[in-house]
Amino acid sequence: MLKVSKFGGSSLATAEQVRRVCDIITADPKRRLIVVSAPGKRHSQDIKVTDLLIAAASERLTGKIGASECAETIERYRSIASGLGLPAEVIEPISRDLTERLEKSTTDANLYMDTMKAGGEDNCARLIAQVLQARGVEAHYVSPKDAGMILSDEPGNAQVLPEAYNRLRDLNERPGITIFPGFFGYSKQGNVVTFSRGGSDITGAILASAVRAEVYENFTDVDSVFAANPSIVKDPAPIAELTYREMRELSYAGFSVFHDEALEPVYRAQVPVNIRNTNNPKADGTMIVPSRKSTDIPVVGIAAIDSICCIYLSKYLMNRQIGFGRRLLQILESEAVSFEHVPSGIDNMSVIIREENLPAKKEKRIVEQIRQTLGPEDISVERGLSLIMVVGEGMRHTVGIASRATHALSSAQVNIEMINQGSNEVSMMFGIKSEDMETAVQALYSAFFA
Ligand code: ASP
Repeated sequence: MLKVSKFGGSSLATAEQVRRVCDIITADPKRRLIVVSAPGKRHSQDIKVTDLLIAAASERLTGKIGASECAETIERYRSIASGLGLPAEVIEPISRDLTERLEKSTTDANLYMDTMKAGGEDNCARLIAQVLQARGVEAHYVSPKDAGMILSDEPGNAQVLPEAYNRLRDLNERPGITIFPGFFGYSKQGNVVTFSRGGSDITGAILASAVRAEVYENFTDVDSVFAANPSIVKDPAPIAELTYREMRELSYAGFSVFHDEALEPVYRAQVPVNIRNTNNPKADGTMIVPSRKSTDIPVVGIAAIDSICCIYLSKYLMNRQIGFGRRLLQILESEAVSFEHVPSGIDNMSVIIREENLPAKKEKRIVEQIRQTLGPEDISVERGLSLIMVVGEGMRHTVGIASRATHALSSAQVNIEMINQGSNEVSMMFGIKSEDMETAVQALYSAFFA
């Protein structure tokens, strides 16, 4: 059985990092299917290769040339190659490829943008294959088109099509080490399409599921997933093991270590995921598994998202009105607004929405339509909210989690605007004012982990 190992942008940002990555790949003969991102930031002020390519494409799409951003991108690969002592010619095909992408037709703006974005990963994979070959290792770049990474035709937000899995399974049979570029695939029409940002995690998960990998190793720049955001809680506890469902809830609410769309393929195939640190490969990292051996730790993490808003409406005897909820959600659907949660009472309902999905103009139209169609006695929209999620499978079997949480929040003077427990009992959600977000996370962390 092989391992699928994915390396993120920060692990590939410099020659030194690439050297570490190649050491990790060759240290375990089971690491035979490798997924790479595009080179990321070398320091906090730096620009990721993907962002440089987006900037170059945007220039071209507004009638300019975009040459300087493209040259800067080529320079990033050149500095990695030369830092590793590879001959200068190695850069020629990369430079040619990126220049050709830049000069492609811009008639279809979405296709053009995705073709440019994909250039970051595609050239990185070619380069890594060459670095390994220069070490005398049998390594081959594979094109996602040849391998069968078939995606829906949704530029910048594609999803894998079911038929891709059968084709990708054949990657099992390839000799040596296969280097697969992350982040993009091809539509049935043969056009390049990318996943959403950070989508190389998704590529790795699809491959791990297709080849039924022993494990999907996701190498990043932290030792593990932590129980809370380290920029809010000082030295939060590392999480050794958590379930897919727990990780899904945490990544939904802002834990950005692992793309939330990457969980579905591995969950379906029950392939465990191991989040690891390229800069500290000895550390065990965090395992994401179907079920935890011990659920005596009721809560594994505290997450928070802000920029949330809430449409609240109340109507006496709402519970007796058949179709009230459906009509409310239909109004949102007609405005193409997706919602997050719908907590409700007997005579009232709230719809929780990310602020970015409810611009002021839509809000006005939606409120008007709700007034006309549903005739609520009261309707209001509140912005500037945060959702705090207390996550843990053990919650189901442990009495008193809600009271511990609410007690912690009230002791910290945080007013709870709403409470919702997901039907799967893996998380408990509190809606609060955004200005209280940090205090709330700190209070809940102390209540469950101190
Ligand atoms: N390079 C892409 C991005 O920056 C995808 C990835 O890194 O996973 O979004």
